[in-house]
Amino acid sequence: MSTLLITNGRVIDPSSKRDEVADVFIVDGKIQEVGKHISAIAEKTIDATGLVVAPGLVDIHVHFREPGREDMETLETGSRAALAGGITTVVTMPNTAPIADNQTVIEFIVKRARELDLITIYPAGAITKNEAGSMLAEMREMKNSGAVAVSDDGVDVDNPGVLLSAMEYAKTHDMLLMNHCETPELDESGVMHEGWVSTELGLPGIPEVAEDHGVAKGIMLAQRSGARFHISHMSTKAAAAALREAKRAGLANVTGEVSVQHFALTDEECRGYNTHAKMYPPLRSRDHVDAIVEAIKDGIIDALTTDHAPHIEPDKIKPFADAARGTVGLETSFAVMNTYLVKAGHIPLSQGIALMTHKPAEIIRQKKGTLAVGADADIAIFDPDKEWIVDEKEFLSKGRNSVFIGKKLVGKAVHTIVGGKVKMSGGKIV
Ligand SMILES: [Zn+2]
Ligand SMILES: [Zn+2]
Repeated sequence: MSTLLITNGRVIDPSSKRDEVADVFIVDGKIQEVGKHISAIAEKTIDATGLVVAPGLVDIHVHFREPGREDMETLETGSRAALAGGITTVVTMPNTAPIADNQTVIEFIVKRARELDLITIYPAGAITKNEAGSMLAEMREMKNSGAVAVSDDGVDVDNPGVLLSAMEYAKTHDMLLMNHCETPELDESGVMHEGWVSTELGLPGIPEVAEDHGVAKGIMLAQRSGARFHISHMSTKAAAAALREAKRAGLANVTGEVSVQHFALTDEECRGYNTHAKMYPPLRSRDHVDAIVEAIKDGIIDALTTDHAPHIEPDKIKPFADAARGTVGLETSFAVMNTYLVKAGHIPLSQGIALMTHKPAEIIRQKKGTLAVGADADIAIFDPDKEWIVDEKEFLSKGRNSVFIGKKLVGKAVHTIVGGKVKMSGGKIV
């Protein structure tokens, strides 16, 4: 029998509406008891006085690049970066090389994650073969191999007929369908948000209607098909309004996420042709960011994610228009949420943690992100007041392309525990 006792921390477990100073007792990798002054004798004790003890974070949108682009990130380096950020469960997007559009690639990821024994990795399979947007991939086989969702992330499923068929197929197999909602015919080959800043920089802009149209199309087809439909990385006023309206209308099968950079930063970050600020959907203007924050405050948004997208340096040291898109985020997401939502006074810490634990876990229907008795003892212990400057040289991710480099953030993971075992302590993998 292995035992671990975490004492005197502020235990925040939104799934059981707990936010109080308490102890957590773990036996054989499961939560045995949460309460005040637990008197059990444990093999190992962690004093969490002054720290926050939360469920390990669940990030349902990451890119780990393996198989195929191990020079950018591997399942191992991505997992280590996750642990550094207090993240214990991820959903990997299928745009690897080859694309995860069949059971062989899904089986490879599941098997490799098990061998690594670092975090829980749930792969998402592709919606269409090779993410080409025409032929549906074998969802049933991929589900049987361990895929928890399908997505053609990186691109929208452009053809609405194909998307509707995919939703009907997904519904038949009770599969979650996530969609990168940006209609390509409307993005005008832009490279950043269309507005004042793009005009001043002389860069082609992406009109917000590209995302607005993609989101509206997805919600309409979800209403028709009844499929579990999840909108990835929402960033516009109209996208937030559309999800708000869908929820008001009682569409319980529709959920949406926001990547943390989209509520924290604006398109001002692109000034100086900073390619770390290039991503799709793009960082938006202040009015959109404010609307996204309002939607988070109002409980319209169901999850916060990173869209962790590591790239090699040569792909970012390029003219803005040619540079790779995306930012890394696993090692900064808790701090970004804490700094820009909690410390900024928009939401309480428990609400932010809910959006990064049990709420995303419920979207993928996994028993994660909770400290309920009997649950897997996946736990993140944070110092919520620790101030630090983001230095990419300290990242465990192979990706150094963070839009947060040089920014002062508040809050850091101190220990990360997976299945009752301490896997990260003080920024180092144990
Ligand atoms: Zn995407
Ligand atoms: Zn993505």
